[in-house]
Amino acid sequence: MLYPLSYEGQDQKLYRATDDTPRAVLREVFGYEAFRGEQAEIIDHVTGGGSAFVLMPTGGGKSLCYQVPAIVRHRAGLGVTIVVSPLIALMQDQVNALETAGVHAAFLNSSLSRTGSQQVETRLRAGELSILYAAPERVTQEGFLYQLDRLVDTSGLSLFAIDEAHCVSHWGHDFRAEYLKLALLADRYPTVPRVALTATADEQTREDIVERLRLESARRFIASFDRPNIRYTVVERTKAQPQLVDFMKSHRGEAGIVYCSTRKKVETVTGWLLAAGVPALPYHAGLDQHTRSVNQDVFALNDGIVIVATIAFGMGIDKAEVRFIAHLDLPKNIESYYQETGRAGRDGLPAETWMVYGLGDVVQQRRLIAENTAQAEWKRIQRHKLDALLALVETHTCRRVELLSYFGEESKPCGNCDNCLDPPTTWDATEAARKALSSVIRVRHGGGRAVAYGFAYHIELLVGKRSERVIANRHDELSTFGIGTDLSEEQWRAVFRRLIALGVLEAQGEYGTLALTDEAGPVLRGEQPILLREVTPSRKRSRRRR
Ligand code: ADP
Ligand code: ZN
Repeated sequence: MLYPLSYEGQDQKLYRATDDTPRAVLREVFGYEAFRGEQAEIIDHVTGGGSAFVLMPTGGGKSLCYQVPAIVRHRAGLGVTIVVSPLIALMQDQVNALETAGVHAAFLNSSLSRTGSQQVETRLRAGELSILYAAPERVTQEGFLYQLDRLVDTSGLSLFAIDEAHCVSHWGHDFRAEYLKLALLADRYPTVPRVALTATADEQTREDIVERLRLESARRFIASFDRPNIRYTVVERTKAQPQLVDFMKSHRGEAGIVYCSTRKKVETVTGWLLAAGVPALPYHAGLDQHTRSVNQDVFALNDGIVIVATIAFGMGIDKAEVRFIAHLDLPKNIESYYQETGRAGRDGLPAETWMVYGLGDVVQQRRLIAENTAQAEWKRIQRHKLDALLALVETHTCRRVELLSYFGEESKPCGNCDNCLDPPTTWDATEAARKALSSVIRVRHGGGRAVAYGFAYHIELLVGKRSERVIANRHDELSTFGIGTDLSEEQWRAVFRRLIALGVLEAQGEYGTLALTDEAGPVLRGEQPILLREVTPSRKRSRRRR
């Protein structure tokens, strides 16, 4: 056995020529000339038998961080690397790519037949495999562990790579219970190095991963999350269709992805784009497998195709020249937003991300969390994540600073987001916010049927609109009726949106009836300044940017 491996100095001449170094493997197997960013350091560390926690944004090149060490260590006689991944669809792709490059690789998951599994296990026992991908539930099965035990004494168990490591954390956006069991690998194979990798982890999730996977003494590699070539823009929704079509004008002939929250919306929006002469294809889980893969291929292989999709689309998409990502609905949280927008500009050339959002999104997201039957702890985490996302969309300072700070990274105003390029003017809504809250209090305590008093209703009251329902409830007699005629309905919507975003107001029940929360005190007393951006027509802004 050639252990420990060394790549510095003359030692390596004693080994099997230079083609066993990580750099040689990079060139020979993957066809790349140089490592990117921290890859070199990570790969040296892991190849040398060190454990590691790797946080690297999507597209940063995480796979090589375990594939190269796996190949080098297998060649050195140290045995197989087990890659734990929850993404069954990706395993097949990765294994195909590796096999094509001449690396012995295989996967074990529920998609294999019994005979298929047995064949893989035979290759595993024979020590033939450099890399074996396996789903977490498989890796933690006693039967499988028993096979690994035997490998330790025979052909070797070289390395564990735990991909998508955030799945081990409740704080992560994709918790999977089977991941918790992976902690047993530390006890059962104390001498086998482990590398955990993820693209998305805020500070809390990071600590969780390290603790739960027992990686306290592993070296941490945290790559920057900044994607400087991506421009971030968030606009308020006035009318989504013309806003989207207008945005697309500056992306004629370019490839992009438009994300929507529902299948139905995907179909509708595809229609909008086709009507505007944009070559668009739908993608969602309701389409049959054939249509989906055809649409995905057409997108991947051609220039200038726009995919309109639910978040079902994107995993395993490796198209470098995606020029824009548009969100027509709020993503679930910043992790999702970052991951989805991160599919733009992988080639390093300028790319644009654009999102419209409105009050309805905020109300709906809050309600989805409130009405979920999950435990209070889960709800608390989801609320916290939504708050962070809302802070990002509502901010009038640099979006990149806000985004990176979520991932624990400090930065300076970027000059490449809407707020940097076109600093919004703000107005002081502190007084308006107090009026809005007063209206909610008056209505709740002022009799009438306690239904359907959502923000739209309160806006009618504030601007003094004697609508049928206002008269029926005799709410035109409230002291707060008409106290907000100085502002437009649009401005009032912005006030309510901020109050809901801040968690000061809560939309309850089927009709989104508004109520004050415990957080309302400081706003009601005028102690918490509320600054809102001046409403600028989106047309003007997008033209100025070109
Ligand atoms: P991640 O898993 O971090 O999202 P991948 O491992 O899928 O990223 O890598 C993203 C893309 O970058 C892939 O196409 C990969 O082949 C490519 N890549 C990774 N490392 C390098 C490198 N050193 N040189 C050139 N291309 C690379
Ligand atoms: Zn900026």
